[in-house]
Amino acid sequence: MSASYKFQGWLGLDKDSVKGKMEWKEYEPKTWTEDDVDIKITHCGICGSDLHTLRSGWGPTLYPCCVGHEIVGTAVKVGKNVKHFKVGDRVGVGAQSSSCLDCEECAAGMEHYCSKGNVGTYNGKYPDGSKSYGGYADYCRAPAHFAVKIPDGISSAEAAPMMCGGVTVWSPLVKNGAGPGKRIGIVGVGGLGHFGLLWAKALGCDEVVAISRTYSKKEDAMKMGATKFIATEEKGWNKTNSRSLDLIISTVSSPKMPIAQYFQLLRTNGQFIQVGAPEDAIPSFNAFALIMKGVKFGGSAIGSPADIAEMLAFAAKHKVHPFIQERPLKDANQAVIDMDNGNARYRYVLVNEKHAAEEKA
Ligand code: NAP
Ligand code: ZN
Repeated sequence: MSASYKFQGWLGLDKDSVKGKMEWKEYEPKTWTEDDVDIKITHCGICGSDLHTLRSGWGPTLYPCCVGHEIVGTAVKVGKNVKHFKVGDRVGVGAQSSSCLDCEECAAGMEHYCSKGNVGTYNGKYPDGSKSYGGYADYCRAPAHFAVKIPDGISSAEAAPMMCGGVTVWSPLVKNGAGPGKRIGIVGVGGLGHFGLLWAKALGCDEVVAISRTYSKKEDAMKMGATKFIATEEKGWNKTNSRSLDLIISTVSSPKMPIAQYFQLLRTNGQFIQVGAPEDAIPSFNAFALIMKGVKFGGSAIGSPADIAEMLAFAAKHKVHPFIQERPLKDANQAVIDMDNGNARYRYVLVNEKHAAEEKA
């Protein structure tokens, strides 16, 4: 039975697409299997990774490419093998849409670190050779293992940016002990960083410190739950605040970061986790910055479907509300330009207005 809908969305055709030149076109989704779901998209967040990919910043992008991996909508076709949701349910897909489900990592519930068949929700290729296409679109087809049911307590617009931005900071916070007794620093008050502040506050951390380049986001950061704000434009910020934090999550998307000074903020045995993914190498630093305080320097990628489900349940229970700005899907090109200019406060969410209206009706 052929689907009664078309797969069409905003396609980046070359590097210039990031400058507001995506084109609305039809494309071929992955080959259907009974493990898949077709989602009628109502909302999709704009993640910093969408921009890196549109401009081929991390290496050559597989154009045509439809970005968007903070997808929420209604399941309209569900494969026979899928047991965890049904047609009509509200589901979301984050930055990963497939893995081998067999390797050591997948077996341990770390599908996002799959060592054999990790496929991104866009700009990826499934084992059968078909391409993955993301959420700046009307519909998305993906393996249902990577689609998570959205709890009733969260609106679709608010759930969308949690699918990638939210879980990317949720996971390293929770896995590294964020909670009562801990002093947390979040570097970069952007889409990911603002979630870092919201989660750290809701997790009951003693101190939640926002570390930003300027003071312009201070008022908002305090509303998100920051107990303190450090602006790195202020002379001596690293000395004034040295040895004050147990765990720092850095969401900085540019290689131009004062990393050695960030380390100064850590207490003995502190941890620094980089989640921001700059296009160029991050600055070098002296090994003694780590050695002399027993500091651990690490990284973290998104989260597993189970991590996403856990985060959504927490957000519903603790009534965590992201700071979002809704933009009509038809204006996706302008929204991408605005995101690139650093204007998002703090996550743009594209709204497929026709589908969103039908869902409400
Ligand atoms: P975003 O909303 O643009 O936020 C990035 C923040 O980085 C900015 O708000 C800014 O914060 C800070 N920043 C930018 N340039 C800087 C500079 N030169 N020096 C210091 N800070 C700077 O982007 P996002 O969606 O949060 O994504 C952030 C990064 O995470 C991107 O690289 C994205 O690809 C990556 N990412 C990684 C994963 C993962 O799995 N690890 C998942 C999703 C996204 P201030 O204005 O407060 O200084
Ligand atoms: Zn993302």
